[in-house]
Amino acid sequence: MNLSTRLMQEVAARRDDLVRLTQDLIAIPTLNPPGDNYLEICEYLDRRLSGAGFETQLIRAHGAPGDSDRYPRWNIIARREGSAPRPCVHFNSHIDVVEVGHGWSVDPFAGLVKDGRVYGRGACDMKGGMAASIIAAEAFIAVCPDFTGAIEISGTADEESGGFGGVAYLAEQGFFSPERVDHVIIPEPLNKDRICLGHRGVWWAEIETKGEIAHGSMPFLGDCAVRHMGAVMAEMEASLFPALAARRTDMPVVPDGARASTLNINSIHGGEPEQARDYTGLPSPCVPDRCRMVIDRRFLIEEDIGAVETEIRDLLETLRSGRPGFDYDIRELHRVLPTMTEKGAPVVGAVAQAIEQVFGRAPDYVVSPGTYDQKHIDRIGRLKNCIAYGPGILDLAHKPDEYVGIKDMEHSAQVMALALCDLLGATPVSSG
Ligand SMILES: [Zn+2]
Repeated sequence: MNLSTRLMQEVAARRDDLVRLTQDLIAIPTLNPPGDNYLEICEYLDRRLSGAGFETQLIRAHGAPGDSDRYPRWNIIARREGSAPRPCVHFNSHIDVVEVGHGWSVDPFAGLVKDGRVYGRGACDMKGGMAASIIAAEAFIAVCPDFTGAIEISGTADEESGGFGGVAYLAEQGFFSPERVDHVIIPEPLNKDRICLGHRGVWWAEIETKGEIAHGSMPFLGDCAVRHMGAVMAEMEASLFPALAARRTDMPVVPDGARASTLNINSIHGGEPEQARDYTGLPSPCVPDRCRMVIDRRFLIEEDIGAVETEIRDLLETLRSGRPGFDYDIRELHRVLPTMTEKGAPVVGAVAQAIEQVFGRAPDYVVSPGTYDQKHIDRIGRLKNCIAYGPGILDLAHKPDEYVGIKDMEHSAQVMALALCDLLGATPVSSG
């Protein structure tokens, strides 16, 4: 029997373990916000991975956004060295899940197994992917204990809220530097036969229009900031949205709609604050003197972030010069540059070859419309040899009745085990 077949069989033999591990991870509700049970899940992973011969470190991101004694931002890094410290293959999964939301027909934290699927919040994004990577590593080590190099598995906090208490913090400490790690695979749910090379860029900003407060019965004595914001929106509709839709990228972004530049208006607010729903009083009559809008601009690798910003500022300046009384402020909230790993990168080649072996066809290469922790590995860690690859259907992420297919997890774990074999140049123990 050849080595690939043995690895695939070794993974398949661990199927029950894979399901149980996924259920156990789902059963620890690591909701973010606020960041519940991070220590509990890190301790669970610590027991599991220590038992598999990994050396583990639990690291709290002291002082990171969201970190407090009530909600500490815990992370785990586990490392198992073979006959040499390099090359190092690192699997990074986030431990946090988003809120449950409405519309569930099953208990979101029971890990129900039904019709070949495991259900629960985080099943697909991304506790199923994390379980697949652990099974892949354990199966690989069992078949090839004399591998050359090191395997690392991390469970990190806060990906859903920007990753600052997770991968960003660890990258700042050097855990993702090219001096330590060679290949990174992030088992996000991108489907078992696709390789995700990177993501689009992000520019968030808050625009505020200014007016003058007055009595609502005499609006001509004031200046309505909401009407000024209406002019901003009209200008966006007339010039900006058509210009963005016409801009297309060569990045293989999925779904197709995200191959254009996009802008979302996240929120808009002007005038007196909204009262609680049970408040029974009437509003008071005032001309609003401030209106704020939060925009979420997603941009393409072909676009320059400076130009993205200037385009919005120019629109506002056009209004300032043409519209009486128009004045504004704009404030950047968040920025992430686009990133895309080269198709020729070694980790891409190894996973592509493994996908061919398991599925008998070449992978699809995709780019994510939104960002994930690859941004920190690229910008802070300066490590370019990084992809997202894992089981699960991206469209199910954050939805009610989220699930991951058991067969999909098993296939992905086989792909990961074969990729490890390729990257760590292993020779098997004799099969007896
Ligand atoms: Zn995720």
